Amino acid sequence: MDSFLDNFYSGHLVVNSKRSITYSNKQMLPLLDWKKEDLFSAPLSNIFTKASNIFIDSYVYPLLVNEFYAEEVQLTMITPQGKKVPVVANIRLDEEHTTYWSLFGCANRDKLYQELIETKELLERQSQELLDMATVDPLTGLLNRRELESRSARLLAQAQRNKSPVAVMIIDIDYFKKINDTYGHAFGDDVLKHLGKSLLKGHRKQDVVARYGGEEFVLVLPDTDDANALNVAEKIRCDIETTMINGINITASIGLSINKDNKNEFDALFKEADSALYKAKKNGRNMTILH
Ligand code: GH3
Ligand code: MG
Ligand code: MG
Repeated sequence: MDSFLDNFYSGHLVVNSKRSITYSNKQMLPLLDWKKEDLFSAPLSNIFTKASNIFIDSYVYPLLVNEFYAEEVQLTMITPQGKKVPVVANIRLDEEHTTYWSLFGCANRDKLYQELIETKELLERQSQELLDMATVDPLTGLLNRRELESRSARLLAQAQRNKSPVAVMIIDIDYFKKINDTYGHAFGDDVLKHLGKSLLKGHRKQDVVARYGGEEFVLVLPDTDDANALNVAEKIRCDIETTMINGINITASIGLSINKDNKNEFDALFKEADSALYKAKKNGRNMTILH
């Protein structure tokens, strides 16, 4: 009987009711680097990791008492040198509370599983990157124009239901072409990055902050009426005017519109804000005008 079981390429253990090992076939020995004499009469807990022992106590034995067998139990064995060996176990309990363990090494399956997890994580990262590319402006990290339009549409529909005011704000840097011409395009990019960062810092969670294109930024602010919108815009304008960016001062003009008269189309509101911005430019720049 012994010699028959020694020929199987799987580990076989017999464990008595006191949970001591009373028999092991030869395959167990290379699998676990145990010597036969050390394994014989050793407590079962010696050959498993702490976590597996907890699992055996809390799940495997209660299951065995109820069902008399436990199938495909994933456990981690541990060698005397501390090397961990993943195994799958099928276990049977008899009336004398002796248990019979069949153990199959499954390091390859674990490796495959690990590879699958890594592939899944890679795919998730890549799809997040694709999503970012579709929604985020790469220079400033703000939302891009497309995302601005789709989020604003949702936000305005919600506002219409709640009958709440929404402000659309266009911020356009004054004489930006001159900044590029004087200091170079890379410097201009840096100015845009700085401004983007400070706009992001100041906004509330529910606000939409986007780079519309070039040196134009758009904010869409829910629950914001005329007076509040003017306050926010003036604060932004003053901050831009008084903060040095890379050693220079810039100014910006701001056009504002509010969704009055049940006007809840983003395009219409944007046009109104744009015409207010045009007035601000015409009247001398570095100012806010509400449509
Ligand atoms: P105004 O006060 O009337 O707004 O004048 P302006 O020069 O700011 O406006 P204009 O529309 O004449 O020029 C905008 C400039 O913005 C022109 C373009 O070279 C520059 N620009 C657009 N996109 C970028 C960008 O991504 N990086 C940099 N550095 N410059 C940009
Ligand atoms: Mg412009
Ligand atoms: Mg400009």
